[in-house]
Amino acid sequence: MKTAGRVLAAKIRSIKESKAFGIRSSELPTWCPGCGYFGIHQGLNACIQELGLPHHQVVTVSGIGCAGRSPFFIDTYGLHTVHGRTLPVATGVKLANPKLTVFAIGGDGDGLAIGGGHLPHVARRDVNINYLLFDNSIYGLTKGQPSPSSPTGTKTKASPYGTHDRPLNATLLALTYGASFVARLFAGDPAGIKRALMEGTRHPGFAIFHIYTSCVTFDKFFKTWANLKKWVHPLPEDHDPSDLRQAFDQVLEDEFSTGIVYSRKYPLPGVS
Ligand code: SF4
Ligand code: MG
Repeated sequence: MKTAGRVLAAKIRSIKESKAFGIRSSELPTWCPGCGYFGIHQGLNACIQELGLPHHQVVTVSGIGCAGRSPFFIDTYGLHTVHGRTLPVATGVKLANPKLTVFAIGGDGDGLAIGGGHLPHVARRDVNINYLLFDNSIYGLTKGQPSPSSPTGTKTKASPYGTHDRPLNATLLALTYGASFVARLFAGDPAGIKRALMEGTRHPGFAIFHIYTSCVTFDKFFKTWANLKKWVHPLPEDHDPSDLRQAFDQVLEDEFSTGIVYSRKYPLPGVS
């Protein structure tokens, strides 16, 4: 047994010491097999590589939750901060060194509950950071409580009679708060995530990526892979992301269309 353990440890060490990981760090992800976060990271890693961003000029900032582990698994500078404070810390990093490309990462609990008060302000300030909101509609790390994006009636061990609250729609909130770049994406489509992230990273302002994903361990009823695959579809071909009214109509009428919902460049104050 000891010998097998030693062989495995040596194997892991040799993988870590090799350069086989690219932008992935040598820390092996601790997410459950089948978790949607793998697909999101695949898209994020591909974006960083295709944009040719030097690893030392990229910072990933996360809050608490399963998504909060992200900085460990990507070979950039990273900060695993406190619950809900992803956006203020990411703002501080960007202000301290505007040359850095900053990816703020958090889940629906982190970003829509305890951290929900930060989104309007980072949006209206148009801070040039990228915010990936991993939305699986459940608190995964703490074993499956309903989150602010869970549908009404969600039954879990923490809500045995079903929730009464209506869910928040992160894309709608982002549009309402005046975010200048809003994308809605699907963890099962890493190529689509990569394309949107590349465009949002080039966007000179705040970019939010609301990503539908699946918690395979604690959600057997709502955002399962089977359901998401049935529900998610691209935005209509004639969708015009420069038209805010159309963006609102689209999001209100169709909860599961994905792509770049809205994009507008605001002039910088004092710059003509
Ligand atoms: Fe992913 Fe859910 Fe496992 Fe967390 S608990 S790693 S969200 S599958
Ligand atoms: Mg969650």
